[in-house]
Amino acid sequence: MPIIPDDVAPNDSTMWCDRAVKTEPGSSELLVIAAIKPWACASCTAQFGRGNLLTMDDAGPLCLDCADLGHLEYLPRGDAALTRRAKRGSRLSAVVVQWSRARQRYERQGILAEVQAIAQAERECLVDSEVRERRRERDARRRVVEDERFVAEFADAIRSRFPAAHTSGQSVLLGTPAPVAVDGSGVPAPVAC
Ligand SMILES: [Zn+2]
Repeated sequence: MPIIPDDVAPNDSTMWCDRAVKTEPGSSELLVIAAIKPWACASCTAQFGRGNLLTMDDAGPLCLDCADLGHLEYLPRGDAALTRRAKRGSRLSAVVVQWSRARQRYERQGILAEVQAIAQAERECLVDSEVRERRRERDARRRVVEDERFVAEFADAIRSRFPAAHTSGQSVLLGTPAPVAVDGSGVPAPVAC
């Protein structure tokens, strides 16, 4: 994430930014700003509303077409894997930020990337989610088999340890009440095996 110095953060009179937003030294990330007030492109003079994307140039704000970024598509943040893949697959990408008045800083909103890179990233993420789903189903089936095996082994262990319970026709397996006797009070009392 580029570091944007506090001294270029917008104030009430400039609202979005009236000076070039610098990225972190050495950072190759292009920065695009989602405006928080109407603005005009310094090159083509077209008018834009709040939320429209601009880049800062020495001459002032530029619309994406004038900045040669018009072919890029906006991908909102929220899916880190999708964002990472789209960015990796795009020959040109930019980070979209917007000034937060509440937090007094620019916050990342998403990226701009090539349309086909986003589409490819979406396909890859879809395949991944299908693979994950199939793995979940396999794990669930395996757990059922393991549970059944555990119950069977537990039952065998009970039978071998308490053969009387088995041969007397009483079952002490899971879900079956243990054999009880009723004493004089009518209250069932456990029977020692
Ligand atoms: Zn323009």
